[in-house]
Amino acid sequence: MIQLIKGFRDILPDEAGLWRQVEMMAADIFSGFGFLEMRPPVMEKADLFKRSIGEHTDIVEKEMYTFADRGGDVVTLRPEATASVVRAYIQHKLYNTAGVQKFYTIGPMFRRERPQKGRYRQFHQVNAEVFGTASPYMDVQLVFMLTTFFDALALKNLTVHINSLGCSECRPLFRERLCSFLEENRLNLCNDCKRRIDRNPLRVLDCKVDTCRQATKDAPAITDFLCSDCAGHFEQVTGLLTELGVGFELDRRLVRGLDYYTRTTFEVRTDMLGAQSAVAGGGRYDNLVKMLGGPDVPAVGFAVGFERLMELVELAGSVPCGTERPRVFMAALGEKARSIAFKWLCELNREGVPAEMCMEERGLKSQMKQADKWNATHVAIVGDAEIESGNIILRNMNTKQQEELPLDKMPECLGRAISRL
Ligand code: AMP
Repeated sequence: MIQLIKGFRDILPDEAGLWRQVEMMAADIFSGFGFLEMRPPVMEKADLFKRSIGEHTDIVEKEMYTFADRGGDVVTLRPEATASVVRAYIQHKLYNTAGVQKFYTIGPMFRRERPQKGRYRQFHQVNAEVFGTASPYMDVQLVFMLTTFFDALALKNLTVHINSLGCSECRPLFRERLCSFLEENRLNLCNDCKRRIDRNPLRVLDCKVDTCRQATKDAPAITDFLCSDCAGHFEQVTGLLTELGVGFELDRRLVRGLDYYTRTTFEVRTDMLGAQSAVAGGGRYDNLVKMLGGPDVPAVGFAVGFERLMELVELAGSVPCGTERPRVFMAALGEKARSIAFKWLCELNREGVPAEMCMEERGLKSQMKQADKWNATHVAIVGDAEIESGNIILRNMNTKQQEELPLDKMPECLGRAISRL
């Protein structure tokens, strides 16, 4: 038997209902903050991600599903959504519309990481991206929208971590100092971090290996190197968050795995999911639109990881898995009854009432068994005798109550009786 690809998962019906509820909540809340939905494709030219995420990041170096298609084009299954949203923003000249532009998108991402709990090769994100303002108010509004979403899901034990990564003015000096510090401590770093010193030194601060964390305990902090504009921006962000009552932790090690971030960066973490503790991450990327060939437009965004989010939602048990609808099983005896029952069934379905029947000739006992297996809330029984008498029997499977309904007033009468019984 052909099995699922390693690191991929099926979201079966018992989970999918809850996923849909939470996706709808995200869409609803984000729309309330003025965000419009966008649906970019899941595949793009490989260069888009190489240029935006950065050649020397783990994602681009090791994790992308990149291949030449049959026409020889080198394409990539998107590892994240921001680059695609930026590409669409530039390609369709969405910047020509006045004012700030806000978009959200929900869908699958692909990274060939080592699969483990909370880390998959296909996973899902809901992303929010804002173009056209460099204001710290926008950074704060995004974090506020994120915490509003998590509050609506009644999630507990979440912490917002926040840092500033500076800009092209102040980051180079920090990078230089950090590199010298890392060189001095090279012997205490893991092999990956030794390689990172030249290619992507900021990522060393994010390494999870104990010895690396120990070795970088006294590493320079970016916040000590911010230029006055970046320092002012960061101060406003933290001040506004405090005024809004959004709790946060300053985290000078927070660097994120993608090169395009500038200034504010944040991550929301939980202590309830073990090692994979980041539920959402984001920040400013003021240079990316220009870097990808668009105008000089500042931007800020975030991504929430749905797999981890859904684990938290299940632990919190706060989202009802859809309202329970009545489920009507039509038990028909004889060909004539079956064709009548089938007509009603189609009408009930059209009205949004799940209804089923046994499409093969079966005895009443076997049909009742099938109704039970299907978790019918009601069974309507129609046979020759019922057709003769002009009444059918409706049985409530929970209360075991039965009532007779006039055949000639079907199926409206059935619809009303279901909501009553
Ligand atoms: P990133 O795009 O790396 O900033 O990730 C944003 C969020 O997506 C993270 O906080 C995680 O919740 C989620 N995420 C990232 N990679 C994976 C993965 N391989 N499997 C499941 N969730 C992921």
